[in-house]
Order: sequence, then C-alpha cells, then structure tokens
Amino acid sequence: MLIGAHVSPAGGPAKAVERGTQRAARSVQIFNQNPRAWKPTEYGEAAVEAYHEALAGSGIDALLIHAVYLLNAASEDPEIRAKTLTSLIASLRAGDLLGAQAVVLHPGSALKGDVGAAIARAGEVITEALAESDACPLHLENTAGSGGTLGRSFDELAALLEAAGGHERLGVCLDSCHLYASGFDIRTAEGLTATLDEHDRMCGAERLGSLHLNDSKVALGSNVDRHALVGKGELGEDGCAVFLSEPRFDGLPCVLETLSDPKNPGPEDVRACEALRERGLAARG
Ligand SMILES: [Zn+2]
Ligand SMILES: [Zn+2]
Repeated sequence: MLIGAHVSPAGGPAKAVERGTQRAARSVQIFNQNPRAWKPTEYGEAAVEAYHEALAGSGIDALLIHAVYLLNAASEDPEIRAKTLTSLIASLRAGDLLGAQAVVLHPGSALKGDVGAAIARAGEVITEALAESDACPLHLENTAGSGGTLGRSFDELAALLEAAGGHERLGVCLDSCHLYASGFDIRTAEGLTATLDEHDRMCGAERLGSLHLNDSKVALGSNVDRHALVGKGELGEDGCAVFLSEPRFDGLPCVLETLSDPKNPGPEDVRACEALRERGLAARG
C-alpha cells in the first residue's frame, strides 16, 4: 500500500513532491486548480519537467489529482455543466502530462431532482471528458450520501460506471469516512470484507484503484461528510488498522486527507499509519 497525503501544489507540482517527501509519503494527491474558482491550471513545459525530475528522485510512486468540489457532472444547469466539462478535461490532461495514477472525481449531485436522470447526465459529461483526453484514468469516489450526492452506494457507483459506457479508463476511489457515513460498518475485518465483496460484485474488483483514509466525526449511516484525524474518530485506531491492512488494498495509493499539522509537513501522520498497518496485519494473523 502506498500510504500518502493530500498536499498543496502551490509553486507547481514539483513542490507537491517536495511536500510529500517531507511527509514520508509514498503517494500524493493535489487539487490541480484553486478549489474555490473555476479556473483550470495549465502546466507549462518547465513545470512538467521539474515535476518529473523531482518525482524520479523521490520515494513517491503515485500521484492522484482530485477534481475540485465545484464540479457537478450531473448538473441540469448548462453553464455549470459546461464549466464542469472544461475543468474535468483540464484535470485529465494534467493527469496525462504528469503521469498521474488517476483523477479522482465526486460523481456529482442530483440536488433535489431525479437520481436516475442525474446519473445519465453525469455519464455523458464523463464520457465526453474521457474522449477529450488521452490516457489518465478517472476514479469515481464514493460519497457520504449527503443531500443528492451520487455515489453513496455500490448500486449508484455501478450505475455511474455504466452510464459512462463502462469505459476502460474508469475506476473507483473508496474513502473510508464516506463508506462509514453512508452506512458501511467497516470497523472490523469482517465488515470491510463484506463491503468489498459488494463492491467487487457490483463494480468489478478490477475497478478499485485508489483510497482515501479519513476517520469519521459522525456516526455510522449519518450521511454527513465530516473527516476526523486517523484514529481519532468513530473508526478509531482499530478501524483504521483494519482499512490499512486490507489485502485487496495492497499496492494502491491510500491518501490521508486529514493531517495533524497541515501547515508544517512532517512524517508523523504517515508513520503512524504504517504502524497501524502493521498492527492490522498482526491482528489478521
Ligand atoms: Zn474526495
Ligand atoms: Zn470527505
């Protein structure tokens, strides 16, 4: 498992590698544009070159690009739809340039409208974005299920994959906090096994491509997305140890999005997760 962290790309993607290294990360995740503005970043040749040079000399083996939360591929509003498409294409093209393992996308929101129609709209936008980019995979992230957000269940994720034509570049990103908040009790190895069996049955085992490890501040099935520090929430250290030691997650990037000291990057968070992984492996025997 490539345990890593969400880091700032301020100063360019090579800087993100530097910040990941300070955190002893094996994978990093960045936003490729300001999360509060509709302004896709275009990486120039020098920035891309500096990134690849930094990466080659680092212990980081995977980059994830998280599409920003403004996007709603399921929107009925033509302007939001167009902006979402432009931004998603830019993210995937950035992923192509940087050799990212994937772009991670929250599939969208039906808001108060019909879920089936929203899934169909999201599928169209995703299909168009894939057609306008070369090779970077796109991972649809499971959501906590607040409001009309799509992707709260494996049914919905499977329907989204299908609506996007089951494209070979599509995958799934599983977030531990979102799973728990949407009602999957993943605190034990048995619970996580049952959850992943359902994922594999509905979405296909081969689709699982990346992970977010966040603890949850809120109760099982509460459908609210409130991250807690690893080990400090409802999953607790034991629940996080289960997630970190899951055999089906071997080799996947697992990004911590909630960090103990976001301003002063140090190796503590990743090291603590490595220790929890060992603990989880020992408990599995
Ligand atoms: Zn996310
Ligand atoms: Zn979240």
